[in-house]
Amino acid sequence: MEQEQVAKTSFRFFGLGGSNEVGRSCHILQYKGKTVMLDAGVHPAHQGLASLPFYDEFDLSTVDILLISHFHLDHAASLPYVMQRTNFHGRVFMTHPTKAIYRWLLSDFVKVTNIGSTSPLDKDENLYSDEDLAESFDRIETIDYHSTMDVNGIKFTAFHAGHVLGAAMFQIEIAGLRVLFTGDYSREVDRHLNSAEVPPLPSDVLIVESTFGTATHEPRVNRERKLTQLIHSTVMRGGRVLLPVFALGRAQEIMLILDEYWSQHANELANGQVPIFYASNLARKCMSVFQTYVNMMNDDIRKKFRDSQSNPFIFKNISYLKNLDEFQDFGPSVMLASPGMLQNGLSRDLLEKWCPDDKNLVLITGYSVEGTMAKFIMLEPDTIPSINNPDMTIPRRCQVEEISFAAHVDFRENLEFIEKIGATNIILVHGESNPMGRLKSALLSNFASLKGTETEVHVFNPRNCVAVDLEFKGIKIAK
Ligand SMILES: [Zn+2]
Repeated sequence: MEQEQVAKTSFRFFGLGGSNEVGRSCHILQYKGKTVMLDAGVHPAHQGLASLPFYDEFDLSTVDILLISHFHLDHAASLPYVMQRTNFHGRVFMTHPTKAIYRWLLSDFVKVTNIGSTSPLDKDENLYSDEDLAESFDRIETIDYHSTMDVNGIKFTAFHAGHVLGAAMFQIEIAGLRVLFTGDYSREVDRHLNSAEVPPLPSDVLIVESTFGTATHEPRVNRERKLTQLIHSTVMRGGRVLLPVFALGRAQEIMLILDEYWSQHANELANGQVPIFYASNLARKCMSVFQTYVNMMNDDIRKKFRDSQSNPFIFKNISYLKNLDEFQDFGPSVMLASPGMLQNGLSRDLLEKWCPDDKNLVLITGYSVEGTMAKFIMLEPDTIPSINNPDMTIPRRCQVEEISFAAHVDFRENLEFIEKIGATNIILVHGESNPMGRLKSALLSNFASLKGTETEVHVFNPRNCVAVDLEFKGIKIAK
């Protein structure tokens, strides 16, 4: 009896993935007999079942609701597996644009992982099929920004998170206890997205990303200038530029920057002198989603849309390539190609083709997860292994640079947001151990003056499958 009472007042956080790592995000919240699951991703550096969160460590049949923060694979790509291949039977929610993009992204993900597996053993490792994806898709419910849903006493509201189109932060309320989950978020003013907002109601627990730890980003104008100048000088000396990008999301931001720059330097660059390509088998489908959801973007881009009477995502200087068969590789060009971490597919094929030439440039703009080629290439190795023939190595002489447009908060932005939320319990997720550990220390010293007071701030950086238990007895009364 005594035990049961304690259990009822304690809040439990349990990470199945994405704790002390970037990848396979999945977190479980339990309070007053309710269970919420946050995100269902895969780990980009692993394949098949090894890429999943530790689903065996938790009884998924107890989950009431599953909220997906955004469409990136490390947050959403194991959802069809959860819905079709486990005992999960809860309800699933995401925003409208996330659902629209999720559909195309995951059917591409199925295709790419199927191509990657050649042996019969690998075939069994396929997480799910196109049919699983289609069936699960129909059962996903959508939520509007700033609207609150109530599922059996679990209330939750979606807020803008910046980061990518459709990304949401969720504030969850169970019996008066409020928890804010940021997912991936950005606070910087973007060319097309609303930045992350502070919910009007306070939160008791904050679950926040820690991707960049205590690092500081250079101001956006500087990064844009560096990006355009680096690309411009490379193509002027006859080099090719490869920008590995995730098919959707940040790629569209880079395209807005390059399309504008090409128009401003039309004499040298425009009208086919130096073509820009967006190479992805999702290119056309995805652009139509962006063109459709302009009304969910920031005032700046909506104004451009109104003033010019033309869609800002219909680019003048960028053409689409479905695959490399239709690509004639003569002279300098700029290629945005997916996937973003050069694991396989189009971007990897181009990397292997272009990296032996020292005139060429590989420019990394996203966050590169440990264990992927994008992370490896930044060490400037002398050779790289060929994807189709791992015994073969290819000389790497091309220039490699990194300019981040990953749209995650840096330390200053994260701290400012965390202070505004004012939660006394902070759980760090979505960061490699070292940057996360540094962020924890920095937060603890920032809040050191509150130590021993009523509003002392507790910071947790749990590993996967290690529970964080918090007591809230006496504070919370259901309204
Ligand atoms: Zn993301």
